[in-house]
Order: sequence, then structure tokens, then C-alpha cells
Amino acid sequence: MVRTYIKDLKEKIGKDVTVKGFVQSIRNQGGIKFLILRDVTGIIQCVVMKSDKEAFGFVEDLSLESVVSIEGLVKEEKQAPDGFEVQVKSIEILSKAYPELPIPVVYEKSGDETDVTKRLDYRWLDLRRPEHLQIFKVWTELEKGFRKFCDENNFVQIYTPSFMIAPSESGSEVFEVEYFDRKAYLAQSPQFYKQMALASGFDRVFMAGPVFRAEPSFTTRHMTEFTGWDFEMAYVDSHHDVMDLLEGAIVAGFSQIRDSLDIDIVVPSRPFPRLTMAEAKEKLSSRNVPSKAVFDVSPEEERILCEIVKEETNHDFVFLTDWPVEGRPFYHMRYEGDQKTTKSYDLLYRGLEIVTGAQREHRHDVLVRQAEEKKMNLNQLKDYLEFFRYGCPPHGGAGIGPGRIIMMLLDLSSVKEATFLPRDVKRLRP
Ligand code: ATP
Repeated sequence: MVRTYIKDLKEKIGKDVTVKGFVQSIRNQGGIKFLILRDVTGIIQCVVMKSDKEAFGFVEDLSLESVVSIEGLVKEEKQAPDGFEVQVKSIEILSKAYPELPIPVVYEKSGDETDVTKRLDYRWLDLRRPEHLQIFKVWTELEKGFRKFCDENNFVQIYTPSFMIAPSESGSEVFEVEYFDRKAYLAQSPQFYKQMALASGFDRVFMAGPVFRAEPSFTTRHMTEFTGWDFEMAYVDSHHDVMDLLEGAIVAGFSQIRDSLDIDIVVPSRPFPRLTMAEAKEKLSSRNVPSKAVFDVSPEEERILCEIVKEETNHDFVFLTDWPVEGRPFYHMRYEGDQKTTKSYDLLYRGLEIVTGAQREHRHDVLVRQAEEKKMNLNQLKDYLEFFRYGCPPHGGAGIGPGRIIMMLLDLSSVKEATFLPRDVKRLRP
């Protein structure tokens, strides 16, 4: 018989069905066994009567989280949690779980949470919890909205390699790997290659892919490998054009989640507030928030700044623009009349940086000068600098951390909770 999803059982009252899933709980009540079955769409109470000897015998043997196929009749039952249940006719055990689960899948009461390290050790069991699956459904819809937006705005999708001949950007956060008879490096971002696409005349490109960072950090916002979303667009007049587009993409992603999933979500209004770094620092100093550096913002400053903006505008997002050159990489464009300030931005959401971007410097000679000024190794940048030798449109773009967006959107304790199999300094398994 064709499998029926649990969410569709209501329409099958009075009919025989086959349901398949995990055994979430078993309760004995005299001559009746109640079994809660869970599939990807929900849970249902299944009832096995003692009179049904064969099925009853199977349940005696059943361990929690075993995978079963049940045939039975869907019937109304006032006392059942949903007002109906499946009266079991036969059970087939598709995969028996060993008893003694290393972590519980369902918690009896709140506060019974297993320690996160252990949960991540048994991530496949941890992910059986429906609220964890929901995180990835939200991610799927967010990405769908982003892609639809990119499509409607004439972006072309590209994939860039993870192996590089030289470290991109800074050398300190890069993983070095054996590559036959030489060394290679894992890409810290697709930055250089997506810019190459613009030198190839692609006009607008986007991509989603793995990003590697050898940062020994133990924060809730950093991993050593994460998924990055990137876009880059040609013929921008300034970083504000890029921010306009980014706002559109975020609104599209959030709207997609709101329209497809049953969760309460605020779709941000446009335009998002924009503050220059100078204005932001002024606001922070008016609240006596200590500043470690004028060219950067600390996590604490990010958090407080978002609180201030929320108070003032009721907005969850804020762009921090016009960063001093000291706080930005050499390829960020500077203002013609103010060589100390870059045409750059970060986007903060509910207290956390989720995107970095800028208008890029596309003029070969200026780019070389800025790289020299930042004491970059020009030899290592040789390929990159070549991209700008034979004509390249003015352009800008963004590097987005979807894991961080999901973390803040769903109020998760860490970006790792939003990641299928997180990798950090200590974790390389499962
Ligand atoms: P941070 O200042 O928080 O370390 P960053 O400035 O190094 O971040 P970028 O290099 O600008 O980050 O990367 C672009 C985006 O990728 C960030 O805005 C963030 O959303 C995400 N991101 C960066 N590093 C990590 C990481 N280690 N783990 C997860 N996401 C990250």
C-alpha cells in the first residue's frame, strides 16, 4: 500500500493506510499498547489491541526509535490527542534500534536538555527532533527566496574552487593542505574568483559554497567551515547600490519563509537603517560604551548598536557603512576625496554581523597601490591582480553568512545549531 504521511491522515478517516516512521514512545495500558509514531510531517497515536496477537507480540519486542511500517485503520477517537488514531492491523520492523539511546530524542520536560557537545556527538539522533528539522526547513525557504530574487534580478550562478595556489586575503586564517607535490590552501572566501567573473563580463553572479577559516575561535558565531552565500554585481555607483540589492534579497528570503512555513516571523521593512562608522561610534560613546578601536566594532558594540537602533527605529537590521581603511582589506574602494574611508559596509541583525560587503577597487593601478600600502605579498596576489589588467567593470558585492541569519532569526544559542554537521577547532566528527 502507498505510504501516507502523518499530516494527511485526517483525510483518511475510515480508510486503511500504511504509515512509516520512528517509534517515539510506547505506553502499556492493560490489554492495549499505545505507540506514538513520528514521520517527517508529524506524530500519530497508533493503538495495538491484545486481541491482535501478532502485532501485539511485535510491540513487546520493539525498542524506542526503531523504524517501522504500520498498516491499520484510521478512526475517530475522542480521547486520542488529535481526535483520531490508527488502529494497527500489522507491524513490520524495518530497522530495530538498540535499546539504551545515547541521548534522548524527545525530552519529557524542559530543562532535561543533554549537553550540547554530547548532542553534537550524536547529531543524527539530535536532528530527529522536529524543532531541529524545522531549522533546516527555514534555511531551505530562506535560500529559495534568495535564489528567486537573484534569478529575477539577472544573476548567474557560479561555483568557485576551494583549492587555491596561494592564501586569499590574510595568511593567518588559512588551512594549508598537501596537494600532490606541493601545498595548496583552502579558500577563505570566493572573493577573488567571483570578482573574476565580473572581469569575464558576467555582470551579476551569485554562489553558495563552503568557506574555510583556520581561526582558533571558540565563539558562538565562528566555525572552521561554514556555508557562505556570495554575490557580486557590475556597474555600481557606490556600496549603497549593493546594500539596496541586499535589502531586496533579505526581504525576499524572509517573505518566502513567512509564506511557506508556520512560524511567526517579521519581514523587515525597507529601507534598512544605515549608519556610518563615525555615526555609530558617536552613538556608542553617547552611551558610554568603551571602544577598542576606531576602525572596528567589537561583538559588544555590535550588540549595543543594534539595541540603540531598535529603540530608535524599531528595526532589527542596521548597515554600518564607510569603514576606515585600517579595518578593511586592500581591495575595498576608497572615496575619491577621502582616502582614509572605504566604500564598505557590514550588515548587523539583532546584534550580530551577518554580511560584509563593499564596492571593490576595479582599477589595476589603484589596486596594486592599495595592496602595496597594506604590505600584501604581491607575488601571492599575482593571479588576482591580473584579473584587472584587461578591463573590469566597476563592481561591488556581499559575503553573507546564512548560518548566522538563521541563528538570530530562530534565536538559537550558536551558529552550530543552524549547521547540519558543524566543524570547529575541536570537532571533526561525526
Ligand atoms: P567576524 O568579524 O565575525 O569574525 P568576518 O568579518 O571575519 O566575521 P567575513 O570574512 O566578512 O566575516 O565573512 C562574511 C560573512 O560570513 C560574515 O558576515 C559572517 O556572516 C560569515 N562568517 C564569517 N566567518 C564565519 C565563521 N567563522 N563561521 C560562520 N560564519 C562566518
